[in-house]
Amino acid sequence: MKGLKLAALDDNKRTVVRVGDVKVGEGFVVIAGPCSVESEEQTLETAHAVKEAGADMLRGGAFKPRSSPYSFQGLGLKGLKILEKAREETGLPVVTEVVDSKDVQWVCEYADVLQIGTRNMQNFALLKEVGKANRPVLLKRGMYSTIEEWLNSAEYILNEGNPDVILCERGIRTHETYTRNTLDLSAVPAVKELTHLPIITDPSHGTGRLSLIPPMSMASVACEADGMIVEVHRNPPEALSDKDQSLTPKQFADMMEKVRALQKFMEAQK
Ligand code: PEP
Ligand code: MN
Repeated sequence: MKGLKLAALDDNKRTVVRVGDVKVGEGFVVIAGPCSVESEEQTLETAHAVKEAGADMLRGGAFKPRSSPYSFQGLGLKGLKILEKAREETGLPVVTEVVDSKDVQWVCEYADVLQIGTRNMQNFALLKEVGKANRPVLLKRGMYSTIEEWLNSAEYILNEGNPDVILCERGIRTHETYTRNTLDLSAVPAVKELTHLPIITDPSHGTGRLSLIPPMSMASVACEADGMIVEVHRNPPEALSDKDQSLTPKQFADMMEKVRALQKFMEAQK
């Protein structure tokens, strides 16, 4: 594929990205939590619930790249401090988005994994900056991007010296309007043919519909993704962002039981 050097698959040697005790690239890693950090109580309650249900890492946005400037933009530093507390209490590593290259170095003091959102996949200044950081990067696919463009964005990060890139298929824009995005699950095996980097899916943004998240999480296990990232809120109707795609803790726990059972079945086939 054009432009791929460091990201290209060579001799079937695959990268496992370590985040504390979690290994992305071995088994099926589940990252769960609210779309946005809204308050300490909301985040801690959700963090404990997802931990209880078997999540491996906690997600939560403190900087929100919203389509409208009038929508909730996130709590910033205050949100990062809440995430830090959630990590202390649960032991779950924290995945959080960084939207500005100026913020990368100091956000690393709070984040275990730096998320690059779909809208920033080709923000090359930001990619270079996270490439210099000593934290793994979760690189979401641009909603309008081809696989080639996405992998070249990973190449930018690797080229700055950061080897720990996790790809995330989060859905792309198609002519379909029933779903928020079209979760391109064929990208999972396609990416595995092209690169050694691990790839997870995002059934929440990938569908935007609650009812479609559990089946797409099962499909993510079945297509041999390395994990998924899912939005969970203690009270979805009250969520300040993405309320229509946020699972309740109970819905998440029920889904996790099925996901872990399918994972076991898949592993037994190997
Ligand atoms: C998110 O994870 O909340 C988010 C904003 O994701 P994306 O960049 O995929 O829209
Ligand atoms: Mn969201």
